[in-house]
This record gives sequence, structure tokens and C-alpha cells, in this order.
Amino acid sequence: MSCLLCGSARVARRRTVAGHPYALCAGCRVWRLDGAAGDVPPRTAGTGHEQRVRMLGRTVAELEAWAAPGRLLDVGSGPGHLLEAARRRGWDVVGLEPDPSSAESSRALFGIDPAAREWRAGAVEDGSFDAVVLHHVLEHLPDPPAALEAARRALRPGGVLHVAVPNARTVDRLLDRGSTEEIFDPPRHLWVFSDRTLPPLVRRAGLDVVRSRPQVSNALGRFVSSDGASGPAGGGRGGQSLRARALRAAAGVARTVAPGSAVRLFALRPQERA
Ligand SMILES: [Zn+2]
Repeated sequence: MSCLLCGSARVARRRTVAGHPYALCAGCRVWRLDGAAGDVPPRTAGTGHEQRVRMLGRTVAELEAWAAPGRLLDVGSGPGHLLEAARRRGWDVVGLEPDPSSAESSRALFGIDPAAREWRAGAVEDGSFDAVVLHHVLEHLPDPPAALEAARRALRPGGVLHVAVPNARTVDRLLDRGSTEEIFDPPRHLWVFSDRTLPPLVRRAGLDVVRSRPQVSNALGRFVSSDGASGPAGGGRGGQSLRARALRAAAGVARTVAPGSAVRLFALRPQERA
């Protein structure tokens, strides 16, 4: 079977995670589920809704470095935490969620009613969103290049895409064997990307990657305050304290030597040439 992402038929490595076979593509170095996906219900969010909304509010704030609050589309919006976070910050939000029980949670928790549509080009009007979010969604979709192409089309020129995925390269895997199962989450995750393999895939979909980095490792995060160190890079540089700059530098080093459990990427739909 040749790779849907790059066309290579060569496999560099194979591994089994919790009884499910995965293959590492020799071409693009992305792990793929090498067997039947099966019909597995998505994980449901537990408690701590307010905390989750606040955490995702920081993600929305980060993407506002490239787009002022306007129309935001969350693909695979699940129980609606990110939509609620964006709404509180003044965004006009639209969610797509094909899973009925997740959509029901979204209505019950936040009064947000997502559309039950699958994600594909033409699912929403072209160029109609200032921001599109694929938050821990791309790894579940059978055709990631098509999903990214659909995201590009949904954005207005200059609009911002945010993608977050588990990171196959995370140091957490060395520190904690249980985290491998979390990252591959078989058979829910059809693909396992990394901080190295996600950016080229997004570029091939015709988007300009403006920021892509792993989170600070959970293990190292205890030593490096990621709060002060992972805010938007733009603006306010002159007013930054020495301590904030030191923390930011330390977090950068930590991400490089010990990448965290997820990759966070931001990309823009290029402006059309006049
Ligand atoms: Zn490949």
C-alpha cells in the first residue's frame, strides 16, 4: 500500500501499539495505522469544563496575532469547549461535529449547536472564515491533505489556520511508556505526525506556515514555566521583563531538546496577487 501523503510504497519501520499495527512511511516519515480503522466512538471529555475553556482561550488568543475576532470555524468541535472559548473572546463561531453524542454535549454544556457535516471541500462557503481550527482532528481523518485543502479554501485570503496534533517525536515517550498509547490512541489515530512532518504537509496544501512548535514537554514543563514563555511572539517586546525573556529562551531550548506531547501550528492562506 503506498502512502496517501507522499506516494512512497516503502516502510521504514513497523510497530504495534495496543494490538494495532502502525507503519512509518520511509518517504514522509509519518506513522499511519496499517490496518482497519474500525468504528470506535470518540473519547468523551470528562469534567473540568471551565478549565478546558480557559486553556483553549489561550489558543484562541494566540491565533489572534494573525486575525482579529471575526468568523471562526472549528472542525470536529466535539463538546464545544473551543467554540465557547472563542465566543467569549468575541468570535462568531461555527462548529462541525458529525458525532451525535459530542454534538449533544455541545448543546447541553454551552448551548452551541454544531452542524452534523463531514469535513470536505465545499462543506462551508469558500473564503468565508477568518480562522479555521483543526484541534486534535487531523490525525483522525482518512485524508489529511484533502482536509487541509478544504481548510485553505474555507479561509479568506490572509485568514489563519490552527492545527494541533499529537507529536510522535515527544520526549514523553521516553519518560513514560504509557504516553505512546496516548499519542497513537489506536485505532482512533489513523496518522501520527510530528513537529518535523506536519509543517511540510500544511505547506503542500498551499498555506504559509507562520509558527510551528511542539509544546514544552509535560515533564520539563514543571521546570520551565510555559505560561510566561509561550505567548504570542509579536508585540510588546520592549516592555518584556528580563525574567520573561529568560523563560521564553528556556522554553525554546526545552522544546528543541525535549519536544512535548503535541505540535501547535499556525498557517495563513496567502493573499491573492493583485
Ligand atoms: Zn509518506
